[in-house]
Amino acid sequence: MKFNTKTIHGGQQHEEATGSVMTPIFQTSTYAQSSPGVNKGYVYSRSANPTRTALENAFASLENGTHGYAFASGLAAIDCVLRLLKPGDEVIAGDDLYGGTYRMFTRLFEKYGLKFQYVNMNDSSNVVNAITEFTKLIWIETPTNPLMKIADIEEISNSVKQTNKDILIAVDNTFATPYLQQPLDLGADIVMHSATKYLGGHSDLVMGALIVKDAELGKELNFIQFAAGAIAGPMDSFLALRGIKTLHVRMQRHCENGRKVAEFLRDHEKVGAIYYPGFKSHENYEIAKKQMKDFGGMVSFRLKDESKSATFKFLEHVKVFTLAESLGGVESLVNHPVSMTHGSIPEAERLKMGITDSLIRLSIGIEDIDDLLLDLDQALRK
Ligand SMILES: *Cc1c(COP(=O)(O)O)cnc(C)c1O
Repeated sequence: MKFNTKTIHGGQQHEEATGSVMTPIFQTSTYAQSSPGVNKGYVYSRSANPTRTALENAFASLENGTHGYAFASGLAAIDCVLRLLKPGDEVIAGDDLYGGTYRMFTRLFEKYGLKFQYVNMNDSSNVVNAITEFTKLIWIETPTNPLMKIADIEEISNSVKQTNKDILIAVDNTFATPYLQQPLDLGADIVMHSATKYLGGHSDLVMGALIVKDAELGKELNFIQFAAGAIAGPMDSFLALRGIKTLHVRMQRHCENGRKVAEFLRDHEKVGAIYYPGFKSHENYEIAKKQMKDFGGMVSFRLKDESKSATFKFLEHVKVFTLAESLGGVESLVNHPVSMTHGSIPEAERLKMGITDSLIRLSIGIEDIDDLLLDLDQALRK
């Protein structure tokens, strides 16, 4: 099946008992056994639930994997990957990460003896040069949140594999979605999603996903998912399944509107720096073009007047855009990373990364583009 068909049918079967075309919400914690240990494949909903199974198969299908796992949140999915490691192991991660990922690495897992190095992944050699005998995991986010840096997944995967070390490569594919890039096909071992964002697509659930190709690795992740217990519930699994069915049409419009907003901002007299991988001036434009089908619906920028007051005035005056955390829903959102999504990163670290008070991040929705541009223009002129 091709991608647009997979979003609707991938891993899906009509329900056996009734022929129900949509996967039912199996709102149950447990399953009847005819004799101890004799069951129909389901025993307790922490280990498996049919609605979640359907979603996990859909995840696997979308990313060209063999196994998918659905979690209570994106961070629960990342937590599951890190539990593959043991004290003393090292992780190499990008230097511009989702704030919650950085918080988990520094404030939870450092406590348990994992070590983290943060490198600029827009140059693959920075990753290879950071590898030590203790490196066990490379954590790639591309495009990055919020600065839209791009890492070359294929080049990093190839050069890490050439070291012949036992190192896993994981990609947080939340911003791109499998519509734009499929990391397993580029050599990654694990794909992670905050399904809260584009996969769900309607800002009505919080969920995470992991997808792998290798069955053994899948088994390990499945064990952690079961043993640690941060699973997605059946109702949320249903909503995510429904969201995924329109992923391709939503993404097409997110990308179209994203480009128009980026071009509008670039030409606007009040706007300064702009972070959008679809511009030739972006330092990793060539990689983005090679790796992604299009450039996505996320755009970050700064006003020419970089004062906090000017930035806040803009943020307070948007009307069609909503000032809120999160991204990837049908509605347009605007976010102030310093005070919202990236507030947990210590100030010195943030400043080094370029996440300053003047940075604004847009998640471009699928509304009529004219309304979005008019709204931005009126708020920019306040
Ligand atoms: C939101 C987000 C996460 C965390 O996911 P939750 O579902 O909020 O737990 C991780 N990575 C990226 C890139 C995100 O945008």
